[in-house]
Amino acid sequence: MDQNRTSGPSGARGFELLRIAGGFRRILQTELGQEQLCACCNEPWPMDQEFFNVSPRGVSYDCRACIQERRGN
Ligand SMILES: [Zn+2]
Repeated sequence: MDQNRTSGPSGARGFELLRIAGGFRRILQTELGQEQLCACCNEPWPMDQEFFNVSPRGVSYDCRACIQERRGN
């Protein structure tokens, strides 16, 4: 565990390439848990059902907002 980081929304550094179910993702470890970099908008979001599509096969590459935007078109 690396607690050696500044907190806050501007602390978007320290992404690690981690292998999770579904493939490799860019993950940021924060005090609140893991955040994943969306492959579409390149924003970090918490890795949970609220922000990503989480299934037994893994977590979606893109955040829900990006997925919904694509579906809306
Ligand atoms: Zn996104």
